[in-house]
This record gives sequence, C-alpha cells and structure tokens, in this order.
Amino acid sequence: MKSIISLMAGAALGVATLVAPAFAADKGTVGIAMPTKASARWIDDGNNIVKQLQAAGYGTDLQYGDDDIPNQLSQIENMVTKGDKVLVIASIDGTTLSDVLQKAHDAGIKVIAYDRLIRNSGNVDYYATFDNFKVGVLQAGSIVDALGLKDGKGPFNIELFGGSPDDNNAFFFYDGAMSVLKPYIDSGKLVVKSGQMGMDKVGTLRWDPATAQARMDNLLSAYYTDAHVDAVLSPYDGLSIGILSSLKGVGYGTGGVKLPVVTGQDSEIPSVKSIIAGEQHSTIFKDTRDLAKVTVNMVNALMEGKTPEVNDTKTYDNGVKVVPSYLLTPVAVDKSNYEKILVEGGYYKADQLK
Ligand code: BGC
Repeated sequence: MKSIISLMAGAALGVATLVAPAFAADKGTVGIAMPTKASARWIDDGNNIVKQLQAAGYGTDLQYGDDDIPNQLSQIENMVTKGDKVLVIASIDGTTLSDVLQKAHDAGIKVIAYDRLIRNSGNVDYYATFDNFKVGVLQAGSIVDALGLKDGKGPFNIELFGGSPDDNNAFFFYDGAMSVLKPYIDSGKLVVKSGQMGMDKVGTLRWDPATAQARMDNLLSAYYTDAHVDAVLSPYDGLSIGILSSLKGVGYGTGGVKLPVVTGQDSEIPSVKSIIAGEQHSTIFKDTRDLAKVTVNMVNALMEGKTPEVNDTKTYDNGVKVVPSYLLTPVAVDKSNYEKILVEGGYYKADQLK
C-alpha cells in the first residue's frame, strides 16, 4: 500500500513538475487583507492584486475586514495558520497587528504593508503606497488655486477635516495639506472660524462619512449662520459626499449660495459624478492597478529570495523601524482633467460616469 501511495505521489509530482505553470497555487498562496468593502477603492485594490498575482502563478486568499479590528485580526491569524507565503495587509487600525505579525515572522512569512503603514512592529518587511504627504499637498493646492489665493484674493473661510486617527496615512494627508494652507491661515487669508485645527480635533474615526456629515452639520449651525464657508478640506471622497449633503441641507448650492471648494481622494465614481455636476471641486487619483503591480513585484522578489525594489528608505518610521517603501505618485483630478486621467487612462469607461 505504502509503495503504491509513494508511486502515486511520485507520479503526481512528475506531472506537477511537467506542467507547473498551469497550477496557479504551485507558487504558494498570498494572503491579502483589505479593510472594507464600503469604499470602492478597496474593492478595486483587492481585484487588481488578485488578478495580477494569479497571472504571476500565485494562489490568493483575499479577505475584507468590514472595518472591524478583531475581524481583520482573525482573518490574518487564519492566513498564518494556513501557511500563506506572503501577507499583503491594508490595515484597519495600523497599531493592532504586532502579535499576529510576530507569529507570521516566526513562521517565515513575509509581510507587505499595503497603502497604509503598519505601526509598532518590527515584522513589517516592505511598504507599497503612494506619496501620502503629496496627496495632502495636492488637495490643499486645489483649494489655493480655486480660491485664487496666489493672486492675493481673500480672506476666505475654510474648515478642515482629517482622516481616521488610527490610519497613519491620515496624518500625512493632513500635514501635507497644512504645509500649503498654514501660511494663508497665518496671514489671515484663510480663516478657520471654528478654530478647529489639528488631527486631534478634525480626525474622522474609521473614515466614516456619517461622522463627517454630522460634524459639518455642527460646524454650520455653530459658526456659519451669518457667514459663508468658502472651502472644506476633505481627505477622502466618502467624507466629501457627506460634507456636501450637509451643506446642501442648509441651502448651499441653490439660490445663489455657492458651494464651497470641497476636495476629496480616491476618484470614486459618486465623487467624479459630483465633480462633473459642479459640486465637489476635486479629488485625487491613486491608480490601484499600479499599486497592485508594485506589490506583486515585491511578492515576486521576496519569493525568489531577492530584494524588492524600493524608492524611499527614510519617510516611513513605524515606531520600531523605518520600513523600506515604494511610493507611487498621486494625481490631482478636477473637472478640467478627469476625462484625460480617468477615462483616457482606462480606469473608468465614460458610461460609468454618466
Ligand atoms: C487611503 C485613502 C483612502 C482612505 C479611506 C487611506 O488609508 O490611503 O486612499 O481614502 O484610507 O479609505
């Protein structure tokens, strides 16, 4: 019996070796942990990584955490238990994964932080992301341009929104934006009537649109019954949609009351449509196809025992180590260039934006 089994195993092995490229999972499985399906960008990310990894011959194990920290933790624990070879993780809370990543490390599993830095762990091998500081610079730049601040116009009223305080990116977006806005605030050309500045005051837990909408409602009723808000720094399209509903709810956008210049990020379809309709002013395009490509290159290198290509070894200190990173370039999108960037670039079909 034993010899029959080993004969069969030998035969199976022979077959596997002969036709190896046909068996996707032969190269091993890559675990992919994404934060949520509530925002389209993460669905695109997941799909693009899976497509590219499978084309490169890997098995894939894609999980979404529903923005629930324990849920994501147990998904990653399962990946480690199942023996996935590499983990690609876009964390919900970047500070909560130290224990599971220690287990991954002990099992020889490599870890790539995807888009969001994983903090407080020495077991994050690489980081694939966009230039997050630049995202903020571009968002603020679109406000400066739209208001004509460089031509000396103003003063204008502005309110600031930040992303989730448990997402390292949120601080980079905010700091990038403030590097542009602060001089105008200091000179009085931009006025934050609420006085609410700093991530501790303007952060939006879990990037929740309803939270942003409620905060905008409060700002409008507390500070703008006799004043007009001219700009709102919003770090993410989902929040921008909530902020715009709040503004429209008190009459902005009708009867000669101009909507403020509202920024965003991710070029999600509802926001691109809003830009086309003249409501949201701008967004940021981060091509998730390119981020997937960078990530798959990292996976390949790690699996082949090579050193992944990086272009930044200074910026992303996670509290334990500076994680070698590959930063892609974000692009500002508004009504003037959405067709060129998003449609001609093949990210969306023109019909999707109608
Ligand atoms: C991403 C942004 C996104 C935000 C909310 C951030 O970590 O970098 O692209 O808008 O999360 O999902």
